[in-house]
Amino acid sequence: MSSENSIIILGSGPAGYTAALYTARANLNPLLIDGGVGMGQGMQGQGGQLTITTEVENFPGFPEGIMGPELMTRMREQVARFGVRFVEDMATKVDLSERPFKVWVNDDLYTTRALIIATGASARWLGLDEEKPVWEGGLGGAGVSACATCDGAMPVFRNKELIVVGGGDTAAEEALYLTYYASRVYIVHRRDQLRASMVMQQRVVNHPKITVLWNKVIQKIHDPEKKQVTGVTLKDTVTGELSEKEIAGVFMAIGHKPNSELFSGQIDMDEVGYIRTHHDVRTTKLGVYACGDVQDSEYRQAISAAGSGCMAAIQAERFLAAEDAGVHAEW
Ligand SMILES: Cc1cc2nc3c(=O)[nH]c(=O)nc-3n(C[C@H](O)[C@H](O)[C@H](O)COP(=O)(O)OP(=O)(O)OC[C@H]3O[C@@H](n4cnc5c(N)ncnc54)[C@H](O)[C@@H]3O)c2cc1C
Repeated sequence: MSSENSIIILGSGPAGYTAALYTARANLNPLLIDGGVGMGQGMQGQGGQLTITTEVENFPGFPEGIMGPELMTRMREQVARFGVRFVEDMATKVDLSERPFKVWVNDDLYTTRALIIATGASARWLGLDEEKPVWEGGLGGAGVSACATCDGAMPVFRNKELIVVGGGDTAAEEALYLTYYASRVYIVHRRDQLRASMVMQQRVVNHPKITVLWNKVIQKIHDPEKKQVTGVTLKDTVTGELSEKEIAGVFMAIGHKPNSELFSGQIDMDEVGYIRTHHDVRTTKLGVYACGDVQDSEYRQAISAAGSGCMAAIQAERFLAAEDAGVHAEW
């Protein structure tokens, strides 16, 4: 099968759906390749990362909060209303070497004059056997989370002892944020020195509610059977000694992996794999735009992803309109 398109959007998180909404309303008849069914923890499908969380309290317009999966279903219904065409699968290969760009979903080829990349990012996990069962028991509220800003205020964490895993700026920021709610925050770091900037290190080390557990890794999270975090087994990376700690939550802050492998070698990325953009959403390839978490290592929020999806759509629309008018397009 083969189809020609003015615009293809890859990804159906807040960035992709917003880009679809704007391009559909601009009569560009977008094709949205939505990621298909999820592949579980670490890699989400239709609806993106918010489908694996519980309550979202910071997306404007929902004074009572809204469950992540419901928010994403509503976004999908909204774009469907404007006639967006869906391919319920993952893009498996792209060729951006010439226009029209080529996108494959397995054996099916789709060509497009402009491409919006909204493939998001996946949090890195420790890879422990217990992460998944605990997680499946109740998402962030079960006690394992990759986003303190998102889940830290949940009642289950209030006045409890919590762990943040990591040693960089993100771990420091997450730990500081959690001090608003927790009785104590332990940073579990596998080395004897943090990688965070000096300012952040000082804020962490001097904070009365934060304790750094040096040279430690989590070996086991308790208690998958109860589907709730009740504690951890820690291993000392120098002596090998094991110890146990009762805690109510584990927050991973060991980085995110942008879902950008598909474009590797074809557009500019930083060393981690975040797509480099200039003027907000334009990639180094004319006619290719990137929005949301795949190009944003800093804010990583649903509302900022949606905002950049809007920007990508408007830029793509201007690019196509200029080209149709025979004007040299620079967007
Ligand atoms: C547990 C958790 C809780 C969170 N809670 C909040 C919160 O309360 N408030 C908040 O503002 N933010 C929250 N966030 C962050 C928020 O979810 C993200 O910032 C936001 O979802 C990013 O949107 P996005 O559209 O860029 O990407 P994503 O939501 O990551 O969506 C990416 C999409 O791309 C698809 N995709 C990937 N590869 C391909 C491919 N090859 N072909 C086609 N499609 C592909 C995926 O299937 C997915 O549909 C949370 C994140 C997590 C993990």
